[in-house]
Amino acid sequence: MNIILIAPPAAGKGTQSELLVEKYGITHISTGEILREIAASGTELGNYIASIQKEGKLVDDEIVFKALETKLLELNSVNGHVFDGFPRNVNQAIKLDEMLGKLNQKVDYVIYIEIEKERAMQRTLGRITCPKCEAIYNIYKHTFEVEGHCNKCGAELIKRSDDNEESFNTRFDTYMKNVQPVIDYYESKGLLHKVKAQEEKEDTFAYIKEIIEG
Ligand code: ADP
Repeated sequence: MNIILIAPPAAGKGTQSELLVEKYGITHISTGEILREIAASGTELGNYIASIQKEGKLVDDEIVFKALETKLLELNSVNGHVFDGFPRNVNQAIKLDEMLGKLNQKVDYVIYIEIEKERAMQRTLGRITCPKCEAIYNIYKHTFEVEGHCNKCGAELIKRSDDNEESFNTRFDTYMKNVQPVIDYYESKGLLHKVKAQEEKEDTFAYIKEIIEG
C-alpha cells in the first residue's frame, strides 16, 4: 500500500507518517529528511542542499529524484510506503508513478491534511525533533523525562534550522503555490481525500484510518 500525505509545513505529516508506519507496517519516506541527511554530509552537493533548505525554497527536482530513487531501491519495501513531503509539484507526481511502476507498485491513497497558516506557524516555532529516531515534539505541549532529550530514545533533541518565522513563511507560501496542481492531478485520478488537522494527533489519525479502512 502506498499513501501520499500532502500537507503544508507543520500540519502533522511527519507525525501521521509515524502512526501509519506503526499501524500498517509500511515504510516512511520523507524527502525532507533524506535531503537533510545529504545536507549534513558536508559535500558540495550537501552544502548546496543545506542552503536551499535553510531558505525554505524547493530543491531541484533532479536532485530529489536521484536521492529518492536511491533510497527506494536501498529500502526495497514490498509492503509499500508513506510519502511525506513528496510529490510537491506535478513533475514529481508523474515521476513517482514511474518509480513505483518499476517496483510493481502504485499510489493507493492521497491524503491532504488541511491547516490554517496561523496554526501551522505556532506549531513550527515550537517544534523540536529527534535526529536519531525522528520523533517530533512541541515545546509548548510536551513534557520531557530529561529536559531537551527524546522520551523514546534519549538522544538530544534539535531545532531544525528552517523552523524560524521567515523560513516558515516562504515554505508555507511556496508549498501552497506548487501543491494545488498536485491536488488537482490526484483529484482527477479519483485518489484524493481531505482531512482537517485536529488538535490531537490521534483524532487526525482516526479520520485517516477511516479513509483507508472505509
Ligand atoms: P516541511 O514540510 O516542514 O517544510 P520537509 O522536511 O518536508 O519540511 O522539507 C524541508 C525542506 O526540504 C523543504 O523546504 C525543501 O527545501 C526540501 N524538500 C523536501 N522535499 C522536497 C521535494 N519533494 N522537492 C523539493 N524540495 C524538497
